Amino acid sequence: MSVETTGSDVRRAASSSRQEDRCCFSVQEGPGGLWDSVKKAAFVIGSGILFLAAFGNSLTWHLQRFWGASGDFWQNLWTKLYVAFEGHDAALFFLGTMLLPTLTFWLSNALLLLVDITGKPSFITRYRIQVDKNNPVDPVKLRQALKTVIFNQVFISGPMVVAVYYLMSWTGNPCGPELPTFHWALMELAAFSILEEVLFYYSHRLFHHPSLYKHYHKQHHEWTAPIGLVSIYAHPLEHVISNMLPVVIGPVILGSHLSSTSLWYCLALVSTTISHCGYHLPFLPSPEFHDFHHLRFNQCFGVFGILDRLHSTDAKFRQSKQYERHTLLTSFTPLNESIPDTPKKGQ
Ligand SMILES: [Zn+2]
Ligand SMILES: [Zn+2]
Repeated sequence: MSVETTGSDVRRAASSSRQEDRCCFSVQEGPGGLWDSVKKAAFVIGSGILFLAAFGNSLTWHLQRFWGASGDFWQNLWTKLYVAFEGHDAALFFLGTMLLPTLTFWLSNALLLLVDITGKPSFITRYRIQVDKNNPVDPVKLRQALKTVIFNQVFISGPMVVAVYYLMSWTGNPCGPELPTFHWALMELAAFSILEEVLFYYSHRLFHHPSLYKHYHKQHHEWTAPIGLVSIYAHPLEHVISNMLPVVIGPVILGSHLSSTSLWYCLALVSTTISHCGYHLPFLPSPEFHDFHHLRFNQCFGVFGILDRLHSTDAKFRQSKQYERHTLLTSFTPLNESIPDTPKKGQ
């Protein structure tokens, strides 16, 4: 009996990595298991793609009807832009990958900032995740965040986008005359999302290593209750490695067209803004996962949560109220009302 036990212990120790795999597969079926995370991520990506496909098709249909455009509306629109910018590909690329995503970022953040600064409308503040925080937001911290965000956009994102243009023009033609098909662009978005999950998870965990954390990542974590703007409030090195690279590398690898690259940058910026916004609003992706990362520091490092499940870096999250609330809110009742905190013992 004891020999058997020892034998199994030795086998366990000798094949720790394989055992880890088995361990993960053994919890696959349970609720909150790896398989569950994969299914959830597939559901999020899949429904996102379906939504975009439906939205794209119906938008195209409505636009075509409205303007009486014949043929492929988007292709015609692109052809007009292409002709207008003939010989000025770099300018067109910069407009699509810098100006448009930056405007999208500031438009969504301006709306959120209005709520953060004024605490109004109360219809929105009811959805605050960390109820007693940023009520109102600290103006000194906010000014500091604004300065860093503008610095990162002008001096890091801008030059990186220029570098990406030369890299993509060297290997292909990102501003080619023909648009990719809508469905190919959707497949690209799915591939970009997976690549971002992998690169963001591991680079982010690396920045949590004690030797790197205090120099490079502590700044981002000054906000234990983040707001939208904090999504790119980071040390410049972190901004390059963790924020920009995981997003820009996908289109470079796939040699994507400017149209899908531009759409991806806009989606990535809106998505990170939502993850940091501090409000779990109806019909928008749940920000509970990354909000919990800011609250607890050592949990929830990724974007979709697949790698956190694989590496068990979501164990505490899965035991929390925030995990129960980590879902798409499909009613107007705030989740901290429908799933209230459990009163602490002795209260
Ligand atoms: Zn963050
Ligand atoms: Zn972190």
